Amino acid sequence: MIKYKLLCKNCNTSFDSWFASSREYEKLKKKNFLNCNNCNSKSIEKTLMAPKLLNRSNIGDNKQSNLNLKKIRKKINEYQNFIKNNFEYVGKNFAYEARSIHYKDKNKDKKMKKGIYGTASNDDIKELREEGINAETIPWIEDRNN
Ligand SMILES: [Zn+2]
Repeated sequence: MIKYKLLCKNCNTSFDSWFASSREYEKLKKKNFLNCNNCNSKSIEKTLMAPKLLNRSNIGDNKQSNLNLKKIRKKINEYQNFIKNNFEYVGKNFAYEARSIHYKDKNKDKKMKKGIYGTASNDDIKELREEGINAETIPWIEDRNN
């Protein structure tokens, strides 16, 4: 079974529907067996399923899990704000910057007061840890509201 989020191009209503397979969906679509729950229009389109965490249109499906999701998002947001305020963003240079702090700036007067944050691959993180450089990974939600 496969769940698709379908969108009515006529009235813009989206709704979930189950199909035995993606093939079955195509078949029903071809035969014009798909119609809108709201206005009965046949201009139905399959929309991409986004990961649940980022899929705002799922809000309302399940109150309990949304409550938890909101809590988790809130926690992550708080954490992100803390990091944004207290750490310096170095983007993809994270591994490089982390090393330069660890090795070069150790004995310098000019010490970076702030920690850094940025993006790194799992391999980078693993290597940094093997070199004794403390790196933590946290989940990161891009704020698409702004
Ligand atoms: Zn419709």
